[in-house]
Amino acid sequence: MSRISQTSIGNFKVTALRDGELSLPGEVLLNLSDEQSQKIEADENSQLATSNVNAYLIQTESENLLVDSGCRDLFGPTCGFLNDALREAGLEPNDITDIFFTHLHPDHVAGAIDEGGSAVFKNASFKVIDLEYNFWTSDTFSDAEVNGNEWAGLARTALSAYKDKIETISFGKDIIPGVTSVNIPGHTPGHSGFRVDEGNETLIQMGDILHVPNLQLDNPSISTVFDVDPAAALKSRKEILDMVSTDRLLCTSGHMIQPKFGYIEKSGGSYRIAG
Ligand SMILES: [Zn+2]
Repeated sequence: MSRISQTSIGNFKVTALRDGELSLPGEVLLNLSDEQSQKIEADENSQLATSNVNAYLIQTESENLLVDSGCRDLFGPTCGFLNDALREAGLEPNDITDIFFTHLHPDHVAGAIDEGGSAVFKNASFKVIDLEYNFWTSDTFSDAEVNGNEWAGLARTALSAYKDKIETISFGKDIIPGVTSVNIPGHTPGHSGFRVDEGNETLIQMGDILHVPNLQLDNPSISTVFDVDPAAALKSRKEILDMVSTDRLLCTSGHMIQPKFGYIEKSGGSYRIAG
């Protein structure tokens, strides 16, 4: 099955690269109904907690920008196929000219370094939001499994693999001309989406605003234990879903299943992918 989905915004070619798929265990999901918890627990094939891990390739005549890099071998055998997806799109790792990370969680940065901690994308320069860089390089982590020392260590290894080529940028700045970061804080302090604009065409990538779209579009109050600031993450989720549905903007996100690119409609307090 193909690992890529493509769209274009003006002269930008945008490709969703499916690194893999997995089902999130009920323990990491918050605010589920009893019925949803039971369904997830009873049926490991339930689609409710299904997630995909996506990275994105944005191409112009002279640039191949990779956004996020998948989770390599950290999340089991169904993930870690970023480079297969890239090849399906006609590129090798050395063709990547620029990298941007929506945030520095393992499922977004691990694929950028090999097991020895060396850069996979040897010709790429690297941009990251300043708040995100400052958070993960600070000294405040505990041994917690989520957002603790281990995750911070991986983020720092990725940063140091590209250390001569890193530029920190503030929210709203261009990643490359025509591709801009989008401020959606909460999941992590510098959590960012991106938008591609040309003429009257726009695509919004909503970062990790959704992890399990089949549950969270219907009830956006369902969240995961992965948020650094859950209240801010919930606020960001509702704001950006309201924006893309009100303005009818083409959108996607880091864990979207399918379609990878679509429109979202709001109905009451719920959202759904427009049919
Ligand atoms: Zn993620």
